[in-house]
Amino acid sequence: MGEGRLSAPQLRACAGVCYTRRMHDRSEHDTMRRHDRSEHGAILRDALGPWLQEQEPMARHTTLRVGGTARWFWAASDVEQLARVLRVCAQAQIPYLFIGHGSNLLMSDRGYDGLVIQNRCKHTQIGTETQAESGVSFGSLFAQTARAGLAGLEWAIGIPGTVGGALVSNAGAYRGNIGPLVQSVRVFQDGEDTTVGPEWMEFSYRDSRLRRLAEAGAQIGRTVILSCTLRFAEQGDPDTIMARAKEYQAQRRAKQPYAPSAGSFFKNVVDKELAARVPGLSPGMREAGVVPAGFLIEACGLKGLREGGAEASAKHANFLINAEGATASDLRRLAETVKARVQEQFGVSLCEEVLYVGDWSGWA
Ligand SMILES: Cc1cc2nc3c(=O)[nH]c(=O)nc-3n(C[C@H](O)[C@H](O)[C@H](O)COP(=O)(O)OP(=O)(O)OC[C@H]3O[C@@H](n4cnc5c(N)ncnc54)[C@H](O)[C@@H]3O)c2cc1C
Repeated sequence: MGEGRLSAPQLRACAGVCYTRRMHDRSEHDTMRRHDRSEHGAILRDALGPWLQEQEPMARHTTLRVGGTARWFWAASDVEQLARVLRVCAQAQIPYLFIGHGSNLLMSDRGYDGLVIQNRCKHTQIGTETQAESGVSFGSLFAQTARAGLAGLEWAIGIPGTVGGALVSNAGAYRGNIGPLVQSVRVFQDGEDTTVGPEWMEFSYRDSRLRRLAEAGAQIGRTVILSCTLRFAEQGDPDTIMARAKEYQAQRRAKQPYAPSAGSFFKNVVDKELAARVPGLSPGMREAGVVPAGFLIEACGLKGLREGGAEASAKHANFLINAEGATASDLRRLAETVKARVQEQFGVSLCEEVLYVGDWSGWA
C-alpha cells in the first residue's frame, strides 16, 4: 500500500481522510486503479449490501437504449440514505455518476468504471410552495400540481426525466423553463448537505452551474441535488390547466419521433445575425433571434442521415435516434458529422444538449 493510502477497513473506520496520489506512469496508474476499485467495491458492498448491483447494462437506464455497463449500480429511494452514501463516496474518493431517467445522456459503449447512482427519491409535498425530492418524475410533478390547481408547469408535460435532471439543464419547452419557479435547492457538495437559493444555480438557456460542472467532467465531490422547493404563483382550475398541457402534448406528438432518443440532441442557436440571414426561418424565430438546430440540420439535407444504427430522425432532424441496434459510437459519429456539415454550410458550431458520459477514450 502506497504512502498515505488507507486500506478499506481503515477507511470504513475513519472516513474523512483524503489522500493524494502521484501517478508516474500508465502501468502504475492501472495497478493503482485496480487496487482502488477492489477497495471501493468492498466499501460499497459494506454500505449497500444486496442493493449494490455489478456490471449493470446502462442501455436499460437511458432513453437512447445504448451504452456499456456500470461497474456498480445502485437505485436510491431514500434521500437520507442517499446523502449518507454520497458522503461515503466523497470520503473514499469513489467515482460516481448520478443519473435520473437517463433521458439527456449518451453513455459510451465502454460504460462507466465507478458507481452509477440512479435517483428514485420521489417524495413530494404539494402547495403554492411545493417541495419535491429530485427523483420524482417531471411528468408526475406536473400531474400532482395540476390536480391541486397550481398553474405553471403545463409545458413540462411530455418531458421525460426527473426534477433533478430538469434543474441541471434548466429544462423547458414552449417558452417555459423550470428556473423561474425555483425558490431553493438542497444540494450535496464536497461532503456537505446544504440549501442554496436559485441564484446559486446560475440558470440560463438549457444550462446551470451544475451542468457546466458535469460538462467539465467533475467527478469526486461533485454536486447532487437532493430536493427543491418550487413556488407556484398562479392558482387555477385543474381542468383548464390540464387542457392547456394537452395542447402542448398534442404538438409534441405531432413533431417528435417515437424511436429511442434523448430528445433534442443540440441546443438551438441564439444568434440575431444568423437568424437575419438564413432563408426560410419563420418571422417569429427571426424576430427572437433564435435558429432551431433542427432547422439548420434539415437545411443541410441531413434529415434521415444514417450512421450504423443511428439516424437523424426523418420526422425531426434534431432528434438523433437509435433507429436499429445503434451503438453509442454510431450516435456520436452521427453527431460529429452533423456538426461538421452545419459548420461548413452556416459557419455555426452546434452545442450538444445531450451530455456524453462514461469512458469515451478511443471511441472513434
Ligand atoms: C423524447 C424526449 C423529449 C424531450 N424533450 C425535452 C424538452 O422539451 N425540453 C427539455 O428541456 N428537455 C427535453 N428532453 C431532455 C431530458 O428529458 C431533460 O433534459 C430531462 O430534464 C433530463 O432529466 P433526467 O432525469 O433524465 O436526467 P439524466 O439524463 O439522468 O441526467 C442529465 C444530467 O443531469 C445530472 N443529474 C440528474 N439528476 C441530478 C441530480 N439530482 N443532481 C445533480 N445532477 C443530476 C446527471 O448527472 C447528468 O449530468 C427530452 C428527452 C426526450 C427523450
